[in-house]
Amino acid sequence: MSKTDIGKAPANSNFIHEIIDRDLASGRYGKRVHTRFPPEPNGYLHIGHAKSIVLNFTTAVKYGGKCNLRFDDTNPEKEASEYIDSIIEDVKWLGFDWEDRLFYASDYFNKFYRYALKLIEEGKAYVDSSTPEEISRMRGTPTSPGIESSYRDRTPEENLALFEKMKNGEFNEGECVLRAKIDMKSPNLNLRDPVMYRIKKVPHPRTGNTWCIYPMYDWAHGLEDSIENITHSLCTLEFENHRPLYNWFLDQLPDIPHPRQIEFARLNLTYTVMSKRKLLKLVEEGYVSGWDDPRMPTISGLRRRGYTPSAIRKFCERIGVSKTESTIDFALLEYVLRDELNRTAQRRMAVLNPLKVTITNYPEGKEEWLDAENNPEDSSAGVRKIPFSGVLYIEQDDFLEEPPKKYFRLAPGREVRLKHAYFITCNNVIKGENGQVKELLCTYDPATRGGEAPDGRKVRGTIHWVSARHAVKTQVRLYNSLFTRENPLETEEGKDFTDYINNESLVTLKNCRIEPSLSEAKGGENYQFLRKGYFCLDNRDTNPGYPVFNRTVALRDTWARIRTNRNP
Ligand code: ATP
Ligand code: MG
Repeated sequence: MSKTDIGKAPANSNFIHEIIDRDLASGRYGKRVHTRFPPEPNGYLHIGHAKSIVLNFTTAVKYGGKCNLRFDDTNPEKEASEYIDSIIEDVKWLGFDWEDRLFYASDYFNKFYRYALKLIEEGKAYVDSSTPEEISRMRGTPTSPGIESSYRDRTPEENLALFEKMKNGEFNEGECVLRAKIDMKSPNLNLRDPVMYRIKKVPHPRTGNTWCIYPMYDWAHGLEDSIENITHSLCTLEFENHRPLYNWFLDQLPDIPHPRQIEFARLNLTYTVMSKRKLLKLVEEGYVSGWDDPRMPTISGLRRRGYTPSAIRKFCERIGVSKTESTIDFALLEYVLRDELNRTAQRRMAVLNPLKVTITNYPEGKEEWLDAENNPEDSSAGVRKIPFSGVLYIEQDDFLEEPPKKYFRLAPGREVRLKHAYFITCNNVIKGENGQVKELLCTYDPATRGGEAPDGRKVRGTIHWVSARHAVKTQVRLYNSLFTRENPLETEEGKDFTDYINNESLVTLKNCRIEPSLSEAKGGENYQFLRKGYFCLDNRDTNPGYPVFNRTVALRDTWARIRTNRNP
């Protein structure tokens, strides 16, 4: 994607808002808009969920309505309270407020059960004692109709008794299910007598052993929306085929509200995977350090990497909402972030691969505190003091003994500007036993303090540096894309998406030096390390006396280089 494409204003036409406008005009749901974000607590939230969160909450705000946070905790096997806590933290961090409307689908289990009894009484649901294999076989295919179960014509009385026994734990898992009685010949497979309840003898994190029958998603979801009086139930495109079933269930219960389901395309991003199941695999098999590994597309990973909630929200608004699946270039997410951090992040100096420089004409033991602007894009950000002394560190790659043309940094006999400080000239190179450059001996021009020469002479290069005595030793982590393939799920024969993990997705530099003011850095603060990118403190791995910084994003689009597998 070219920079101009990226920079274009968002296509803000939101077809969902057009539908809502029409509904408000017709008064179909009165004058209210009420949405919800309904995560299943079976993993951490990812940036795709952020799209849904932003859509649901900003739609509510736009119409002066409300948005609920609801845990769709109907499957006790995969759900854990760790996930609930992380989801709450992430939605809050993104900046959204569900006020007092935090709900759990499991709180409605009794209501679901009573509604199921109503359907059974009306002959619209039955207990099927076929095996799961038989049920699946009799379902048919998209081109051939299903076959009606021999248990389909059980009487309501029989079904009520059997369902009661199911609920009381008198059957084993898989022995029977409750099914809706719809149409085994429907071209829509979801309408071929879908299962409403199955037996799972598994305790639930919130309801314990109260239930051993658990509702299926399609049965539960519309009821959850209805119970919460949701007006517009926004979900991703894979539920489009389920909408007739969503409506069928609610049509059988005419006394309760009937929300409108609207589907939109899910967010896909290049060079990553987005499904919780796949992310869980990366965590469980140790490809990453955890759900919040800064390479993960999870909200917690992006937070730890240094992404800001506002950049994520802006990205979600910019990509817009549509009905067609597409894959967004990861570079767009980085572009939006960089655009923000350029305006907000304070500048600091950090040397990632230090090379010692001794200023031979600088008075021994002397130090000076020089002024350095915090943000050239924001005059209100002020200045800070940085120490200068006779021994400095510069980047190893800011010196070349035999520089090619157009290399404007330090070289023997050449003069460069040290940012915010003086001009220095390299006079001597000290080498180690293997011929590697160990130290540079330079002189400085005291008249160039602040970076300008009184005689007007110019230098071509300006480099960053730190004072050796004052600098703090630190670890810096540079990240590249987690996968080497644009779409890691498009695998070659016999391969798995984990075969495309990028071995260079994490580069750890353990001997970096940062200016002393950075020892006060706190997690959640973003800094631009001059010429190196945007960084933030890694709260989790930082030790007292040995801070760890994550590179949030490089200064320029590095994707071209990542694609060719080189480290920026
Ligand atoms: P995953 O496939 O990652 O497990 P999911 O759809 O099973 O996701 P849920 O917890 O059920 O995850 O999703 C909560 C809400 O977030 C749903 O409304 C779902 O449609 C939406 N959502 C999930 N993934 C995306 C995505 N990639 N883009 C947009 N919305 C998404
Ligand atoms: Mg799911």
